[in-house]
Amino acid sequence: MADPENPAAGTETARPSNFVRDIVLADNASGKHGGRVHTRFPPEPNGYLHIGHAKSICLNFGLAIEFNGKCNLRFDDTNPCKEEAEYVESIIEDVHWLGFTPDGIYYASDYFQQLYEWAVQLIKAGKAYVCDLTGEQVREYRGTLTETGRESPYRNRSVEENLDLFERMKAGEFPDGSRTLRSKIDMGAANLNMRDPVMYRILHASHHRTGDAWCIYPMYDFTHGQSDSIEKITHSICTLEFEDHRPLYDWYIRELGIFAPQQIEFDRLNLTYTLLSKRRLLALVQQGVVSGWDDPRMPTLSGIRRRGYTPEAIRTFCSRIGVSKTNGVIELGLLEHAVREDLNRRAHRVMAILKPLKLVIDNYPEGQVEMMEAVNNPEDASYGTREVPFSKVLYIEQDDFREEPPKGYFRLYPGNEVRLRYGYLVRCTGVVKNEAGEVIEVHGTYDPETRGGNTPDGRKVKSTIHWVSAAHAVDGEARLYDNLFRVENPNETTEGGDWIDNLNPESLVAAAGAKLEPSLAGAQPGGLYQFERLGYFCVDRDSRPGYPVFNRTVGLRDTWAKIEKAQQAGKRRS
Ligand code: ATP
Ligand code: MG
Repeated sequence: MADPENPAAGTETARPSNFVRDIVLADNASGKHGGRVHTRFPPEPNGYLHIGHAKSICLNFGLAIEFNGKCNLRFDDTNPCKEEAEYVESIIEDVHWLGFTPDGIYYASDYFQQLYEWAVQLIKAGKAYVCDLTGEQVREYRGTLTETGRESPYRNRSVEENLDLFERMKAGEFPDGSRTLRSKIDMGAANLNMRDPVMYRILHASHHRTGDAWCIYPMYDFTHGQSDSIEKITHSICTLEFEDHRPLYDWYIRELGIFAPQQIEFDRLNLTYTLLSKRRLLALVQQGVVSGWDDPRMPTLSGIRRRGYTPEAIRTFCSRIGVSKTNGVIELGLLEHAVREDLNRRAHRVMAILKPLKLVIDNYPEGQVEMMEAVNNPEDASYGTREVPFSKVLYIEQDDFREEPPKGYFRLYPGNEVRLRYGYLVRCTGVVKNEAGEVIEVHGTYDPETRGGNTPDGRKVKSTIHWVSAAHAVDGEARLYDNLFRVENPNETTEGGDWIDNLNPESLVAAAGAKLEPSLAGAQPGGLYQFERLGYFCVDRDSRPGYPVFNRTVGLRDTWAKIEKAQQAGKRRS
């Protein structure tokens, strides 16, 4: 049944079959948490969410919905230097947009006092100490995978001295980086994370929520598990890079004697031709490579939303890719396929000309206008029909005319007849050229017997092209996007190169001078359309009254491009 609070309930996303779900099923069967399922999505508010986060959101919320449980949105905000309220707001908006309603919005920073008390508890138990080594020394002492660590000379301070120093760290007596609080575990542990990891660092920095209340901040590892525990999270689902942190996660929970959630790791989403790292996406924003976090080329949720992707398409994609225990790379084409499928169901079909060329129908009565009935969505009759004006002077795509047609070209060329979608059959009779010899007008004659594109005598026309009546056309702009990066794996660089060198310089082609059918005059931002034969487009917020601006969400499959490519390849071979 549809749940108005969670529109995503009951869609494909709600019942993914995967190993995480199997663990939940097994726990429910064994009664581990009394059948309770409580997950959380825990972003650090240091950037905008991207499509990788959508995978985690769909998984966490999807499980909660399926098992009648709960899912929190928790901000892991322990790093005051990189975090901002703007990011918090965008994350809340994006989670809702994807179709999920958190059962509560929490902040790790709300637990700072509790975490501090737990740190004191560990000091008192002889499990934590204040260390005066510098960051660099701590790293040096830690050792490597092949080399065991060395104990800090401060490791055996008395409990009293540790309590006093930690108190004074909190009081702001020491400069940044001069001391840390570390847990006393095992400098010989095979897992580097267990070699006396840092719990607290000194950072005289204002926090976006706690202001200047604190000048010591807990590390991620000392925060995450305990935050899960406070919220009574049953299944703490995170990405594979945290697998090595799980022993530490469990250690803190065990030593503190608090509620124990189960950490489960799954594979991060990687997509071809894009980067899913907030740090790198931030660099693109800061360097002005893109217009902002919501640039339609960005893999952020705000970017792909502006691009015209629907939450349904993203949820379907996340459900299809599934979750596993090994990292891989997913083809961008799979995401595009999901959105194409969804837009095919819901987009209004319209006719728009991106690169106009005039077509004058010489035998069509001057001044006559006929309203042609056009279908809004062949996939869904409830979208109805609209009327499109047809007249003597039309615009067609430059690509739909060739003065000298290559082999296999069935569109308009001198002598050839094509069907004008919803209009008439038209035969090309000639062209008008400018002084430079470029075709500026195509002329033709129409067959009045073929209104609506019918051929009463059954004669064959191989091609149907779209058009817009010149006198009725609305001016607008269409922004065509290509991949942001020109290589499959933008992280891969040649020697001395930088990931940013992999950017595709042609990722945005803005086509001003588009001619649109008149029904698009009032197109509203967010509106989803299929420009017949060209692709799916959505209305951008840069639109002005009378001048709609469109983003191309994704192309239709262009068979001609494929044929042409194959022909060229064939030519090269012969
Ligand atoms: P980034 O490197 O982009 O900053 P992150 O892992 O540091 O990513 P967080 O804000 O910590 O970002 O992520 C919140 C949640 O989303 C975490 O549970 C994280 O594991 C998950 N997540 C982040 N990126 C991906 C991804 N590419 N695929 C799946 N889950 C992801
Ligand atoms: Mg992170």
